[in-house]
Amino acid sequence: MLRTFCAIFLLAAPAASQQAATGLEHLPLGTPHTTLDGLPLAEKYADSAARILGRSLISHQGLERLSILCDEVGARLSGSPGADRAVEWCQERLRDEGFANVRAEPVMVPRWVRGSHRVRMTAPYAADLAACALGGSIGTPEGPITGSVVAVSSFRELRELGQEQVQGKIVLFNRAMKRNGGSMNGYGAVVSLRTQGARSVGTDQARLPHTGAMNYQDDVPRIPAIAVAGEDADQIQRMLDRGTEVVLSIELGCQTLDDYPSANVVAEFIGRESPDEIILVGGHLDSWDLGTGALDDGAGCMIAWEAVRLLMELGLQPRRTIRLVLFMNEENGLRGGFGYAETHAAEVEKHICAIEADSGAGRPLGFRAGMDKAAIPAVEEIAQLLQGIGADAIQVGGSGGADISPLYRKGVPCMGLRQDVTYYFDYHHTAADTFDKVGPFELSLSIASMSIMTYVLAEMETSLRDRIADS
Ligand SMILES: [Zn+2]
Repeated sequence: MLRTFCAIFLLAAPAASQQAATGLEHLPLGTPHTTLDGLPLAEKYADSAARILGRSLISHQGLERLSILCDEVGARLSGSPGADRAVEWCQERLRDEGFANVRAEPVMVPRWVRGSHRVRMTAPYAADLAACALGGSIGTPEGPITGSVVAVSSFRELRELGQEQVQGKIVLFNRAMKRNGGSMNGYGAVVSLRTQGARSVGTDQARLPHTGAMNYQDDVPRIPAIAVAGEDADQIQRMLDRGTEVVLSIELGCQTLDDYPSANVVAEFIGRESPDEIILVGGHLDSWDLGTGALDDGAGCMIAWEAVRLLMELGLQPRRTIRLVLFMNEENGLRGGFGYAETHAAEVEKHICAIEADSGAGRPLGFRAGMDKAAIPAVEEIAQLLQGIGADAIQVGGSGGADISPLYRKGVPCMGLRQDVTYYFDYHHTAADTFDKVGPFELSLSIASMSIMTYVLAEMETSLRDRIADS
């Protein structure tokens, strides 16, 4: 009986306004800019920053590497052959490029396999729906699950319906995510319908289902969970509103297999004076399985990677060590993030700062900075170097990224690259997250922003940790 109750999800109603896709027209104009006077860090490192920015704009290595990762290595769901290929390929490439201490640090990851699926509407007439299983969902038993649909827009509405109204039915959580919807209608506001209720979220208008992680509560019987494209969810909603009965038939071949040995990929640019002090930069190497993880988070991996390689190419060996970490399993378990913090527990104090890029490939806007307020002025000074490309805004608070959040909780000053996400959630976790969505110019600017911030943090005389300790 319980198994005939299935949650399905709507992804995204379209947003009204479209802006120009890429380019300089996005850069904010008319912001009153301060000069570099009185900003010692920005002044001191202006020449190095100029070299990094210039080199980033004429180098295509980050973009080329991202293309190979997406096209030749492919999708990288934790525990999949693609994730294994990625761990091997990245290490080989990092060694070729001259990184030091290239290694795979083992972590066990969950292994969920999608299998085949078929989602059909059988009444009022027969038609296939654009839908996919959510990550972590159980499969359906032998033969399809069939039931009529009840739609709700929140957990509260579901509770108000009561058990009788939903027993034996398929529940559609139908609430649109809005483009740049912020705290009311953005990803953060809507994503709990996927992770806890199960529902997919996005902003596209291309009838794409968005997968993503979904968690079962331990004390609640498990039911299959799928995401339906926004267009299909809206159609169902319109029919229900007119009093038409809608019946769905769902078959899912998903399975959760035993945990599987995988790894974070780690590589270093060793510091010249304080090699034991670490500035960590990274993204997550795993992706969802429907696309090839170009935006989430192949781009972030390559932003972090190329940020370091540029410094190597330019001979800008900083005082401290820069450690690149390509985390495994951010999407459905965060085992890589937890594993790293555990493996490196003894040197957590030596982590001066950790920075993550995991917001796609849109142009850079600045950084989030989660650290003691005594360290913020230094970060703001460094960010002044990014004023000319509109990436100087520092937002205070937060861990900066899921993978580094375990380090943040252990007191490591953390940052996250902030990027324009206007179009990110059109493709996020869909089959359309592919390399062609990446703009070379925006990627170069993000690489430069990451590289300049990382370089100065690794080079400046009084470290962020010392500034905090001295305050
Ligand atoms: Zn991500």
